[in-house]
Amino acid sequence: PRNPSPTLRHPEHWCRSFSHFIAQCLIKDFETRPSVTHLLEHPFIKQAHGKDTSLRQQLSVLIREQQDVGNRIKTRYILPTTQTSCPDDDLVNLEVLDEETIIAHLQRRYQELQIYTYVGDILIALNPFQTLNIYSPQFSKLYHGMKRSTNPPHIFATADAAYQSMVTLSKDQCIIISGESGAGKTESAHLIVQHLTFLGKANNRTLREKILQVNPLVEAFGNACTAINDNSSRFGKYLEMKFTPTGAVMGAKISEYLLEKSRVIKQATGEKNFHIFYYIYAVLIKMLMQDIISSKLYKEQFDAIQDCFRIIGFTEEEVNSVYRILSAILNTGNIEFTSTSSQHQSDKNPFLMFFCVYLLCSAAALLSIGSEELQEALTSHCVVTRGETIIRTNTVDKATDVRDAMSKALYGRLFSWIVNRINALMCSDGQIIGMNVGILDIFGFENFKKNSFEQLCINIANEQIQFYFNQHIFALEQIEYQSEGVDASLVEYEDNRPILDMFLQKPMGLLSLLDEESRFPQATDQTLVDKFQDNLRNKYFWTPKRVELCFGIQHYAGKVLYNVGGFLEKNRDTLPADIVVHDASVCVCVCLFQYSLMDLLSKMVVGTPHFVRCIKPNDDRQALRFNKERVMVQLRYTGILETVSIRRQGYSHRILIEEYYYLAFRAHQMPEGSRENAIIILQKAKLDNWVLGKTKVFLKYYHVEQLNLMLREVI
Ligand code: ADP
Ligand code: MG
Repeated sequence: PRNPSPTLRHPEHWCRSFSHFIAQCLIKDFETRPSVTHLLEHPFIKQAHGKDTSLRQQLSVLIREQQDVGNRIKTRYILPTTQTSCPDDDLVNLEVLDEETIIAHLQRRYQELQIYTYVGDILIALNPFQTLNIYSPQFSKLYHGMKRSTNPPHIFATADAAYQSMVTLSKDQCIIISGESGAGKTESAHLIVQHLTFLGKANNRTLREKILQVNPLVEAFGNACTAINDNSSRFGKYLEMKFTPTGAVMGAKISEYLLEKSRVIKQATGEKNFHIFYYIYAVLIKMLMQDIISSKLYKEQFDAIQDCFRIIGFTEEEVNSVYRILSAILNTGNIEFTSTSSQHQSDKNPFLMFFCVYLLCSAAALLSIGSEELQEALTSHCVVTRGETIIRTNTVDKATDVRDAMSKALYGRLFSWIVNRINALMCSDGQIIGMNVGILDIFGFENFKKNSFEQLCINIANEQIQFYFNQHIFALEQIEYQSEGVDASLVEYEDNRPILDMFLQKPMGLLSLLDEESRFPQATDQTLVDKFQDNLRNKYFWTPKRVELCFGIQHYAGKVLYNVGGFLEKNRDTLPADIVVHDASVCVCVCLFQYSLMDLLSKMVVGTPHFVRCIKPNDDRQALRFNKERVMVQLRYTGILETVSIRRQGYSHRILIEEYYYLAFRAHQMPEGSRENAIIILQKAKLDNWVLGKTKVFLKYYHVEQLNLMLREVI
């Protein structure tokens, strides 16, 4: 043999050839993901370098370097490569833990297009504002069943962790996505569904296809273009993906919260109505469209929605009724009223009258009711006095209100109907008892120049989510340390409970006061502000001196000034008795906050939570632009800094040790759940840094993953 190991003598030479080899591995065969040990065991390497350990070390270094090259390639997202655990990926590993360092770290990663970063088991996602090639099925494969440290942080890793713990522990999971409007929550939710659908490979291809259509369909009806986001969710959404005990996907269920119905009748400057109206407008009334390009785009989207309906399983008749109702809403929205006693000639414009009658008749026909009936419902109302029913004619304002209330109600009910129908069509065999992963994507915190009732609802919902996050990350954890006699340093955090109390307390919370005032027919915007001012005396509420009919709230995410104009009307959200008899004056707040959000939270509480924190790096929707100030504010109010410390110091997980007895005992041994047995299991599992409390074992966030992986191997 002439040259058994040229590399020893000519390091440069072998470096080159070895680099070449690795590069080839990475590029040619990226799906097989060669690991360091895998490569070291490769016959080429073994033969060339024998068992020389120092060489092996050198090789490892070189492989690391090669992987960095690979990563750089990957940061441009050409192809996925391997990467061993990188401390850079988790803020918990930072040596210095101040705001500056964290921001600089995130900024550097963002510039390298590493939009994801962990804080322990929590995922931070910075909106890239550009399309990244990191969501293909290859990436789903790359993240499938892997330890989190195997690959760079990714939304698929979070989805995977939720799925794996659901399957391994047979427990429901929920993924809570939060962040400001436009931060990337809805995109993240889609990506999670995409990865879960990949994981839950049922033989049933149709079902997988159906599930992927759910989001686009409901978003056509529930999303709209706002000043901040072209595809802003105007409702809260909780999507539960249902799986069989072995982890095959078997259905999905969607719950919607607080649809912003007022958008149907009015949009702020620069904002639009729900997407679907433009789609049907482009198709049904296309002759009137002046803007050809957007008309074409809308037409394409209309076709896409048609496909969604068809794939999910709506009948043609059902879809047609949906369009009829939408057209009816479009028609009624344009009806204008004039007073019959009007003296102004201009009010009696015959063309306008003719047009309105035409709209009225079309709307009535679309809704399959008589046009006289509809006209009567809009222009008159019944009063019952002393047992006698008298019909009174509405004023122009009143008729306009009725028209708007009808449009809102029709749209709201249509939306709920679509959601219910989807649920009925998506839920396969009800007999199988399964588990689910829930994904919560609600509208993000909003603070506009002018904020109204809708913003108040949205922001209260966000307060609730923040409270839930705090409970899980800080409060519950610390309470348990104390009761279990575990010594762990406490982390201070901003508790938003007092703000929530101010909103939700009965009878003196802001929402109760609003409901009470909404029941007075004589109430005005001024009496409402006065009522708030008289009853809400705390540092989170104030009324500005110079701006009338406004009040300010110090939210967890910042100060917001609300304009009370329309609050009472929007809260009453009533329909005239003649249109829908059963819709007696139910106040929005009562049913939405004291029922639906609480219902939502209680659903979530039963599942093991996983958090995704979306961050908006700039307000201009520009790729690669990292506005330090903006990011700082978001990190501050979401309590990321505190989260980093508690994840570093704390023990975020308590487990049922019986679930892991396979790690140390044989199945037939059935050991009892004692402290001694717990210690045996933990020692067998070779974990370090755990603490035994009085009745529970306290584990670091990374232990759980280790345990689950071991368990999967044993089982
Ligand atoms: P949110 O739901 O938080 O209001 P969205 O999820 O609708 O925000 O995101 C707003 C926009 O940001 C999207 O329409 C998309 O253009 C962009 N975006 C967000 N996340 C991503 C991502 N992971 N990759 C590419 N673009 C993204
Ligand atoms: Mg959204």
